[in-house]
Amino acid sequence: MTVKFLPFALPDIGEEEINEVVATLRSGWVTTGPKTKQFEQEFAKYVGGNVEAISVNSATAGLHLALEACGVTYGDEVIVPTLTFTATGEIVRYLGADPVFVDCDPNTLCIDIAQIESKITAKTKVIIPVHMAGLPCDMEAILSLAKKHNLRVIEDAAHTCPSKINNVMIGQHASDAVVYSFYATKTITTGEGGMIVTKNAELAKRCKIMRLHGISRDAFDRYTSTKPAWFYEIVAPGYKYNLTDIASSLGLCQLAKADRFQARRQAMAERYLAELADLPIILPPQVNNPVTDLHSWHLFCCQLNTRKISRDEFIQAMSELGIGTSVHFIPLHLQPYWLERYNLQSEQFPNASQYFKVAVSLPLYTKMTDEDQTRVIAAVRQILVNL
Ligand SMILES: *Cc1c(COP(=O)(O)O)cnc(C)c1O
Repeated sequence: MTVKFLPFALPDIGEEEINEVVATLRSGWVTTGPKTKQFEQEFAKYVGGNVEAISVNSATAGLHLALEACGVTYGDEVIVPTLTFTATGEIVRYLGADPVFVDCDPNTLCIDIAQIESKITAKTKVIIPVHMAGLPCDMEAILSLAKKHNLRVIEDAAHTCPSKINNVMIGQHASDAVVYSFYATKTITTGEGGMIVTKNAELAKRCKIMRLHGISRDAFDRYTSTKPAWFYEIVAPGYKYNLTDIASSLGLCQLAKADRFQARRQAMAERYLAELADLPIILPPQVNNPVTDLHSWHLFCCQLNTRKISRDEFIQAMSELGIGTSVHFIPLHLQPYWLERYNLQSEQFPNASQYFKVAVSLPLYTKMTDEDQTRVIAAVRQILVNL
């Protein structure tokens, strides 16, 4: 009997999304317009209100805009974790500044806050923590450190729709900006897309201008305002980072399902945690307090805890049993560009280096059925029990 291959991740797109996208196509307004405005308003509400939400065509674009709006430029330094996707570091280079990499805390896989202070220099401008896998960082500790050293904070919240710590939604902390991703495999998706959330009015204004060519008001305003429609002013060499109404109509449907998606992901994560507990595997870190904290469970990041099988052999064996897995992430200090550019050594990042050797992410997404998860668990057991 041949079983179907279970992919590592799939988006969860329903008939609602398809109907909404078709309605947008029929409406005649396909780029940034009323659906995007509505998506921004509803996203702001979703993360608790009293914030501005600024849509962009990727989280990478959003992180770039937020960092630019913080005034980061040539020669500045920005603190980032090594255990992240390259976007977190590359946007620093876009502005000619230098990322300064920090190891992960083995207990959370997030940036090791205790090591941040030793990396701060006179050139440091911003800290970019990443809420790894959807587990929220200790934002109180990061923000107080930033305040002490007069640094800005931009949260890479690509994994956190939604996450919460000490009863505070990610998006509500006193950071300068919080940037979400709606890439195809993230907790909610618009195909490609992202959102900047901020309480900083000045930063919001700059991001909105730079999002669309440095035009001092956006296209939607331009075509609906009562002022003469042809007139606009360029105040900076901006970017082309706006989100389309096609994408936003997808996003509106996905956002309405975000809580349900999170509940399903959490139930699946709890099942993995219970049913894999006896195996030689280090299971993902969990929130400190399940009453006040919320984990989005974007990813289920495990570590093999046995010398009898390598990570690569494990991934191969899972693949032969018809199951897709992945690794989050190859630390930036091991990537050719980053290690050569900054002469980075593995020994400088012992925790992330060790994690990477044995890291494997199991599939966890809402399109998976209970039977799919049973298959994943059975495959992991078959490989690890018979060593
Ligand atoms: C996915 C991801 C990004 C980039 O998101 P895009 O929307 O694809 O640009 C940034 N940071 C982290 C940690 C991510 O996982």
